[in-house]
Amino acid sequence: MSTSQQTSSEPTTHYSSDMNYYDVIVIGAGVTGLYAIYKLRELGLTVQSFEEGDGVGGTWYWNRYPGCRFDSESYTYGYSFSEELLQEWDWKEHYSAQPENERYLNYVADKFDLRKHIRLSSRVSSAKFNENENLWEISIEDGYKAKGKFLITAVGILSAGYVPNFEGIHSFQGTWCHTGRWPKEGINLSGKRVGVIGTGASGVQLITEIAKEVGHLTVFQRTPNFCAPLRNSTIDAETQKQIKANYPEIFRMCSESAGSFMHKFDPRSAMDVSAEERRQQYERLWLQGGFAKWLANFYDVMLPGPANEDYAEFVRNKIRERVYDPIIAEMLVPKDHMFGSKRLPCESGYYEVYNQENVLLVDVKTAPIERITSKGVLTSESEYELDVLIFATGYDAVTGSLNKINIQGIGGEILSEKFSGGPRTFMGVTSAGFPNLFTVNSASVGNFPRAAEALIDWVSKTIRWVQDKNYNRIHPTIESEDAWVRHVNEDGAKILRTQGAEANSWYVGANIPGKARVLLTSPDSAPAMRAIRDECAAKGYEGFVLE
Ligand code: NAP
Repeated sequence: MSTSQQTSSEPTTHYSSDMNYYDVIVIGAGVTGLYAIYKLRELGLTVQSFEEGDGVGGTWYWNRYPGCRFDSESYTYGYSFSEELLQEWDWKEHYSAQPENERYLNYVADKFDLRKHIRLSSRVSSAKFNENENLWEISIEDGYKAKGKFLITAVGILSAGYVPNFEGIHSFQGTWCHTGRWPKEGINLSGKRVGVIGTGASGVQLITEIAKEVGHLTVFQRTPNFCAPLRNSTIDAETQKQIKANYPEIFRMCSESAGSFMHKFDPRSAMDVSAEERRQQYERLWLQGGFAKWLANFYDVMLPGPANEDYAEFVRNKIRERVYDPIIAEMLVPKDHMFGSKRLPCESGYYEVYNQENVLLVDVKTAPIERITSKGVLTSESEYELDVLIFATGYDAVTGSLNKINIQGIGGEILSEKFSGGPRTFMGVTSAGFPNLFTVNSASVGNFPRAAEALIDWVSKTIRWVQDKNYNRIHPTIESEDAWVRHVNEDGAKILRTQGAEANSWYVGANIPGKARVLLTSPDSAPAMRAIRDECAAKGYEGFVLE
């Protein structure tokens, strides 16, 4: 590591004598934050990250619930920026679990000496733009303050946990928690009466795992999901060698695909081949790992229409085959939203859980939860007594974690108020009136680290460019922001994620009562998004005001 990298971490105080000053402040030390620190330091900038947790890793620090693991192939999820890292890290499983993922991110923090740039247990309460100094002033809950010319909110897209506002929640005498805040010391579930509310990707992973140890499990399901077998396995020595030799090819495939996964759609329409050929392809992909059955399928399976419905029926029948009781099977079969309009939970024995005698599935769409009582959960039909209640109820996605910080731009404008009708950004990352702010958590979905690396590369280069040109401020024009919001709304309305009133997913904020229903991320593919950003930079940051 070069000397310049090591010394560039030192705060300078040339702007103010009472606060540490950094070129860039990064909120968060998860997958995106860690890479941002590395990259900005490489470019000779001083950088400081503030992280709420007492360890690094973000999602993989907080989500300690049993069963938590990747749904992307492990070797497509790790960072691509260091050949040395790629060659020395051995992923143990094709879809690695939380403990290993957290170890990996800690390994990265140590290997690249990133910890000295991270202040842990530091929740940022406010970030205010000082218009006289052209600096962001950051306040930490414990009273610590710092200033930075640029601010990057690497706070994650799924990090503000959502617990529905059920009456009586605090009267519950047992233990309760949200999957995204699973305690480090764990929860003893052995032999206990456990209830889980929610059957999204978190609930599906958790339920499958804890059904092995609980005394009795009650699952409160509002909407059944399409779930597909993950088909995880350990990586043997020979495969490990092949993976390491093939990294350039793996990352090339990811970079070419819409969601940055190593799967490529079949360019044929499902409806252009015979029913038999269609079926054969569905069955072949069903035996493959992870998202292949979704993202390597006929291209029109991911478009509203007959191919989508044909495949949805195939998946419904797969569910029916696995559950002994036909009434319970029908409760688990999704009928009110299109396949792929919500992210596909990958599972490893989820449906078989409902064949266990100690597992009860409760439909809370027909008999809604009325309140939480001291003993458990009361629905309109019955009271369910529990020792432990787990909320797998999802996240106030994208804007939720931003809104927890009081971010004020020019004239004291408050970002959460500006975003109350949905994110108002240019290219997902910048917002008019909030100079030098990069909201990198509002830009991408898909295989997260792949998109995050590309985005941080662009943001870092932009910051370096602004510094080299001696500009004080960069922020988008209101016209470019308006045009981007129009693009998100108009083109976003055409994609599967926004289709159907019943696809009440976090993608469109519809899982949070009262939240504006609007696509929270870009409707563009990852390659298109990179091209848009690169073109903007090549044109001297067209669409931005540089002051
Ligand atoms: P989610 O997909 O939003 O699921 C939340 C669940 O809680 C849904 O079943 C929802 O029912 C239910 N729910 C919410 N409010 C409720 C209420 N008032 N009463 C009853 N049920 C209620 O959240 P998630 O499972 O945490 O997953 C979020 C995202 O995180 C995923 O889409 C994925 O991108 C990511 N994730 C990835 C992995 C992985 O494998 N790597 C694992 C976990 C999560 P409705 O559907 O009826 O709203």
